[in-house]
Amino acid sequence: MNYGSNPKPVAGPQKLVAHCDHVGSFDVAVTATPHRLARFLEGSRTPARPVRTFRMKVLRYITVISRKRLPVATRLDRPQWHRVLPVMAAICVPVLSADLVEHGPKDSRPSGLLAGVARADIAPPVGIAQMNWGSQTHVRAVGVDPAGMKATALVLSDGRSKFAMVDVDRILVAGLEPAIEEASERTGIPREHIRIGVSHTHAGVYVSPAKGPPGLDLTPLAEMAERYRLSLIDTIAGIIELADRRLEPAHIHGASGQGTININRRVRADGDRPPAVGRNPDGVVDRELVVFRIDDGKGQTMAVVANFQCHGTVLAYENQVISPDWVGMMRVTVERAFPGALTLFFQGAAGDQGPIEGFSGDLSVAHRLGQTLGHQVAAIAMQIETVRRVPKFEGFVESTAYQAKQHWRVLGPRDATLRFASDTVDVPRRTYSPEEVESMRRRLERARRQLGGLPSDAGPLERHQAGARVRRFADLLHQWSRPADPSPLQIEVQALRIGELALVAMPGEPFSEIGTAVKSASPFHFTMFCGYSDGVGGDYVPTADEYLYGGYEVERTPYGLGAAQRVIDTASALLQRIR
Ligand SMILES: [Zn+2]
Repeated sequence: MNYGSNPKPVAGPQKLVAHCDHVGSFDVAVTATPHRLARFLEGSRTPARPVRTFRMKVLRYITVISRKRLPVATRLDRPQWHRVLPVMAAICVPVLSADLVEHGPKDSRPSGLLAGVARADIAPPVGIAQMNWGSQTHVRAVGVDPAGMKATALVLSDGRSKFAMVDVDRILVAGLEPAIEEASERTGIPREHIRIGVSHTHAGVYVSPAKGPPGLDLTPLAEMAERYRLSLIDTIAGIIELADRRLEPAHIHGASGQGTININRRVRADGDRPPAVGRNPDGVVDRELVVFRIDDGKGQTMAVVANFQCHGTVLAYENQVISPDWVGMMRVTVERAFPGALTLFFQGAAGDQGPIEGFSGDLSVAHRLGQTLGHQVAAIAMQIETVRRVPKFEGFVESTAYQAKQHWRVLGPRDATLRFASDTVDVPRRTYSPEEVESMRRRLERARRQLGGLPSDAGPLERHQAGARVRRFADLLHQWSRPADPSPLQIEVQALRIGELALVAMPGEPFSEIGTAVKSASPFHFTMFCGYSDGVGGDYVPTADEYLYGGYEVERTPYGLGAAQRVIDTASALLQRIR
């Protein structure tokens, strides 16, 4: 360990910047009178100021006994040694080994937080409908990603109120809501305290007349998907109950860093080229990766929660394997770093955020991106201190140098206050001018002409894509030409405080600037902003500027200008309320 500070005596307690080969640089607060500190730094053998900890006193006492009072001990009758030695061992072993064992949650008072986690495998049967893409030609899934399809529940309690959060590998929450009622009935956790969020994978189970080959009889596919959905409801209710039964004393804290697998996905129109969904390196991107870690009372990590904003669209129309997309291997990677712990992923404000490599049929691309983010999550999680710790100066060890004893010592638990608030905000509807409706009508006519004018030797993919385009424009024209409805739409926003941390959740697909605005205005140390959660509302929530650029998300959203700002204001007010 090398000191890099200025040794000149200065008034008041000194702050040293220390460096250790193993843990890097850190600040050490040393309370020492200036002349003593200077004497020490100049090489005096007198320690700056003996720290009178219990451990130091005991060590000194033992030293005194061993050096000066040995004759007393030697006068003891032999039979009496069996009484002295265990006492000496009882004192010496913990004292001498104290420095060898890291001090962490096990040395802290309980925080008052209780946590429980549970997981279930939700991989559907092969042959189930996988109709997530208008451009896909297959219908049924032919396999399942070895990273697995999972549902994971986390229940938190302060001994009075309880909250459940569930992470499910699925594209949308819609259809899973009955699990909330079921779990609420079985656990007593209020309905509004249970949040189901989805990973938004586009490689899961889905049945849609607008996706896959046109003119298909969907009945058997829909029946199979429905049986799966019903089993999911039971499974989700079950893991919430199990996590609730597993509640035990816990410690929690968070940290944030950078994830590198996402990019803005709104490609701008350019000349004749229409706006598209892809990679836009000039667009806004939120790469903040927020991680919470939960340890049990002994310091064993129970759960790692990651919040990042990136569509589950690495895999696209050519992929025929049921998969959580990049999220699956992210979870596997984190759990390899934290054996015994479960990882939950809370999808962020990903409305305009996609993966840096996407629309692939290659599962290994999804795995590679998942592993990349997984290592980034693990590195952040590893550095989280779930109890308050500081390196304490506790004297010296005589070595080839004065070796400062500055082990990390627990000050106490972190704040574990749980507080919840929610609000349902009115937002304006998207309206369409007669010119916009007319332009969509022209696009539909052109698409129909293109489909009808395909040469007889056109390949099935070409024919299929031209048909998909007609279906898309027909759906949009239907939506745009509905009579204007002046009544507002509603979006529900929820906020949960967990001590120094906060979690905001809303349904639908908020654009990333909504998330960054709320996170940066948050009074909490670390704040997760999650979309894709249950509640009133749904669909894309673009920020005001984005309406000008058109494109997929803006064309299909039911929300109008001003919706994003209402969400930001509501979420920020809720965070102040639970502060
Ligand atoms: Zn989406």
